[in-house]
Amino acid sequence: MTYLSEKLKEEKVFKDPVHRYVHVRDRVIWDLIGTKEFQRLRRIKQLGTTFLTFHGAEHSRFNHSLGVYEIVRRIIDDVFSSREEWYWAPRDRLLALCAALLHDLGHGPFSHSFEKVFHFDHETYTQKIILGDTEVHAVLRKVDADFPKDVAEVIAKTHNNQLIISLISSQIDADRMDYLQRDAFYTGVSYGHFDMDRIMRVMRPMEDQVVFKKSGMHAVEDYIMSRYQMYWQVYFHPVTRSAEVILNKILLRAQNLYEQGYRFKHEPKHFYSLFAGEPTLEDYLTLDESIVLYYFHVWQEEDDPILRDLCSRFLNRHLFKYVEFEPSAQEYVKYQELGELFRKIDIDPDYYLVIDSSSDLPYDFYRPGEEGERLPILLLMPDGDLRELSRESEIVDAISGKRRTDHKLYYPLDLLEDEKNDPQTVKKIKELLYRR
Ligand code: ZN
Repeated sequence: MTYLSEKLKEEKVFKDPVHRYVHVRDRVIWDLIGTKEFQRLRRIKQLGTTFLTFHGAEHSRFNHSLGVYEIVRRIIDDVFSSREEWYWAPRDRLLALCAALLHDLGHGPFSHSFEKVFHFDHETYTQKIILGDTEVHAVLRKVDADFPKDVAEVIAKTHNNQLIISLISSQIDADRMDYLQRDAFYTGVSYGHFDMDRIMRVMRPMEDQVVFKKSGMHAVEDYIMSRYQMYWQVYFHPVTRSAEVILNKILLRAQNLYEQGYRFKHEPKHFYSLFAGEPTLEDYLTLDESIVLYYFHVWQEEDDPILRDLCSRFLNRHLFKYVEFEPSAQEYVKYQELGELFRKIDIDPDYYLVIDSSSDLPYDFYRPGEEGERLPILLLMPDGDLRELSRESEIVDAISGKRRTDHKLYYPLDLLEDEKNDPQTVKKIKELLYRR
């Protein structure tokens, strides 16, 4: 038997709170899970700083990756395979399973902040891990010489098998179906639930994408709505964003100090290649959230008051407060004025007065040529026609293509209220912040 189709003697199962069990029969999948690059995902939280708002949200990218794999496995093995016309060659099946399992492999610690401050993206590292000198690569390479490249291409959405790509990454895919339910479970919110079994039952594979039988439209609507609600209730929660603002500023401060030649008491060795530009694959893989939090701990003893304060805020959850911010010319003038006043009481506005914006597009119909072009969700009508979802569903039509953006201004109320500050300046600051 070839490695490609080798099965384990006994099926392995992982107990999973969202899908009950994750089933593994394929030797390749089992071997991939055992690699150090995949195990590293246990040390990277799925939702970054969200645990400071929803304390249950400590789940990792490891849990989520197994979940996405399990959804794709069920779609192929349980839903598609029951019909002869949808026969999948074993190599295509394995390709889809591996891409599902590895799609988030390149995520680093608190990816959102790290990518923003140090200007790189996790997708590049996913590619590097799959194609580079790694344990994951060695496993994939054993399938055949082209296999690592194929897996990397499916994840990068450049592979010619569009059907596999649409299973793993489209507006309704295994990735989103897993994280919505998983994040809802771990945060404990009542949004994010939808009938995934029903959605899977009405999925029909077409040549280049998965479509959905019209009779399952309401389950698909429910999925779109839960995505919409999860974004605003969980992902863009203003308190989570406050923690993220502080995290960004810690990284920025550490980098600025490093560039100014500041002598750290605890040298940030693990950060050097990040500060210097694009980190090597080896350095990148060493960096996980346990290392990052270690530095935040020791940096609480640094001489630099800003780095010290920000780290202690993050670890002890002394977050910034916020007010709404309208991005108008007038508001920006006010923001500048606030910055001046902050300086007068020795609070550096570059670190302590921060505008943060979040925005989401719940569902988008196809607009060719536009940035971030998205494949529409297609319904398969009883007469065999295909129709774009928002043309059939009034609910989806109401929220389609509408980008909603939310801006907030973050500041440390406790520092403003320090007794040593000039009361007149503080009064002016508060007037500017709270006068709407
Ligand atoms: Zn994912």
